Amino acid sequence: MKGICILGATGSIGVSTLDVVARHPHLYKVVALTANKNIDALFEQCLAHSPEVVVIVDEQKATEFKLKIENSPLANLKVLTGADALVEVSTLPNVDSVMAAIVGAAGLLPTLAAAEAGKTVLLANKEALVMSGDIFMNAVEKSGAQLLPIDSEHNAIFQCMPASYQTGVSAKGVRRILLTASGGPFRTMPLEQLPQVTPAQAVAHPNWDMGKKISVDSATMMNKGLEMIEACLLFNMKPEQIQVVLHPQSVIHSMVDYVDGTVLAQMGCPDMRIPIAHALAYPERFESGASPLDIFAVKHMDFEPADLVRFPCLRLAYEAITAGGTMPAVLNAANEIAVEAFLNEQIRFTDIPVVIEKTMQQIPVQKGDSLEKILEMDSKARVIANHAIQNLAN
Ligand code: NAD
Ligand code: MG
Repeated sequence: MKGICILGATGSIGVSTLDVVARHPHLYKVVALTANKNIDALFEQCLAHSPEVVVIVDEQKATEFKLKIENSPLANLKVLTGADALVEVSTLPNVDSVMAAIVGAAGLLPTLAAAEAGKTVLLANKEALVMSGDIFMNAVEKSGAQLLPIDSEHNAIFQCMPASYQTGVSAKGVRRILLTASGGPFRTMPLEQLPQVTPAQAVAHPNWDMGKKISVDSATMMNKGLEMIEACLLFNMKPEQIQVVLHPQSVIHSMVDYVDGTVLAQMGCPDMRIPIAHALAYPERFESGASPLDIFAVKHMDFEPADLVRFPCLRLAYEAITAGGTMPAVLNAANEIAVEAFLNEQIRFTDIPVVIEKTMQQIPVQKGDSLEKILEMDSKARVIANHAIQNLAN
């Protein structure tokens, strides 16, 4: 029986993780759940999964939650608050596995702490890895933590790697990675219509049901840019070895191209419970609850290269990883600010890459060799991105 901590339990990945865990109660015990503000969803999850401890980052919401559980079956539940408590629960001695499913930079410290503590880290939070890069991968190597990718593409690549492959090392015989992308909701929209798209249109992904931030990232293809950087780090590859492939059906979740001409692909329905179940059961397999793939219904699959004019965010991600050091953290922070401003209707969809590029131009690259420096660059990028947004709005 393994103990699991789910960081970001109330989000899209968190909910899917609990769905899979509940199918295997003899294998996993839920030790800790965390949420930012959504105490109603967390309350229901606690009733269903009986964790020992919860973290509600927002202090006011934590106080409300304590009142809510007073005369309920959850009266004895331990409730913690504040961002430091995330680190506390992700390193508890009875936690074996940590699902890192907080969105954005807020997930960095608890995810890194889990890696340093030698936990099995199920990594959904790509922003944490993009920001901290080598620091994170070195922490995994030093502690002997098992790092298993949850992002569907990286989980697919991991599954197509040679037997007993460990993340962080370059696999023998691999020529390149074919990183698939659906192309999001605006793949074929005439370019002149893009400035007018609304947050509701951007969030409505054709194939996947996800949180708002990653849905906007999928529409700009910054998601694929972050995933390209994620792939370089997880599989120790160079950016030029990662080929982005538009595949609108989202049946193949990525491919590995070997030097002998073999290409291995992982396929399945677009359901995040598949990579989650793969990582939870690893190295074995168990049921995920996902429907089997109906290959006859798929009929055909299309592949095309990504258009960097339509998707400038993807170009910016290649530029950031090529610059290296602190630049991916700057890219990520500026993107988080720009996406939020777009969702709040402060800027247009096509302003997102403009804000990111302006921010990247104003912050010279430095070595990404300390966490302090990375967090400093993250804060700086947020300030500059906010300035760029004000200038656009005026
Ligand atoms: P979501 O918005 O649905 O959920 C985010 C979770 O993080 C929630 O539980 C929320 O309470 C918590 N959270 C938000 N801000 C926080 C803060 N400041 N402090 C602490 N907790 C905070 O997001 P999601 O779609 O589940 O995505 C989570 C992560 O997984 C992202 O990094 C995303 O890129 C990655 N991912 C998601 C999918 C998917 O299908 N949803 C696929 C691949 C990767
Ligand atoms: Mg993905």
